Amino acid sequence: MIKLMVFIDGTWLYSNLRHLAKECNQPSFYIDYGLLPQRIIEELERTAGIRNTDLVRTFLFGSYPVNYDLVDEDRARKRKDFFSLLREDYHYEVEAYPIDYQRHRILYDDRVPDNSFSPKEKCVDIALASSMLYHAAISGSYDIAIAVVGDKDYFPLFQKVRSLGKRVAVASIQQSCAKVYSNRHDELKLKDFHIIWLNDLLDKIVWTPEESLVECKSPLHIGPSQMTTTVRLRGGQPFFCDECRLKFADQKAEQLREYTSSETESKPEECDARFHSYHEGVIENLIPDRGFGFIKRADGASFFFHVTHLTNIEWEALQPGAKTRFTIIREPAGAKAGAVGEVTLISDEE
Ligand SMILES: [Zn+2]
Repeated sequence: MIKLMVFIDGTWLYSNLRHLAKECNQPSFYIDYGLLPQRIIEELERTAGIRNTDLVRTFLFGSYPVNYDLVDEDRARKRKDFFSLLREDYHYEVEAYPIDYQRHRILYDDRVPDNSFSPKEKCVDIALASSMLYHAAISGSYDIAIAVVGDKDYFPLFQKVRSLGKRVAVASIQQSCAKVYSNRHDELKLKDFHIIWLNDLLDKIVWTPEESLVECKSPLHIGPSQMTTTVRLRGGQPFFCDECRLKFADQKAEQLREYTSSETESKPEECDARFHSYHEGVIENLIPDRGFGFIKRADGASFFFHVTHLTNIEWEALQPGAKTRFTIIREPAGAKAGAVGEVTLISDEE
């Protein structure tokens, strides 16, 4: 049995999907991450003539935004949901690192034209390298490492992994692959197989949406609330239709302006552990007809939350005094509350 481990540079892959979309003439292209590792392995088996492989582990290294413009909450939330999907449904090992947006918009196109802010991604390549090398040094851990990458920085890693007696395969995207990997002669001795192009696997790795019947749980919903969607809901997460999401966004922007600490210049050191760890507190009060409320943390600080921040409970079932665990996007300042990222109800058994 030949043991394989797959190491995906998630940030690189995510930001280069547009090339694959262009190639299949689609406005967007989504990968079916449930299929991806196995499809790459099948291609490796086919082209290298190897058999009897066993996929031992799949790692994905990525990043998620913190300290962003609160308008982008939905976008940030989707990234976290995506990582949960990978972990829970596809058994990936996800290592994700925060990127401090210093309160700017997440997408480049959403920032004003003269905005020179450029987010600094941290740790992703080092984390991938550490992991691949760490496992290479453990005997019996894997025989072949498959790297799904495009940036050239990884070449010293592949040399080291090979010097430990492991074999290296690279899967990449033609339009975004460093020459050191695609070079036929492989002068730097980086890999043991021909490069695998995701471009050749498009129809095998494309995500095809499946429709399911859901009910919009928004108190603002108008009309029949049952509908079909291709959105995949995470365990216990309520569904809100697009129309209600838009209404929520407006409502939330207004409420955030009114109740939470205002925009101030953030210091780089502000993006510390507080923004990527969990906090605990109790529901302080609820404004039922307006879909928001406040949570009091143990130190007495108050945080604004909106119905869309709840991950495992419906608004109607929420009671003051309920225990919650939450992430934060902003600390309170002056008389104004802080802002939460997502709120999970803690059951009494915990
Ligand atoms: Zn709705």
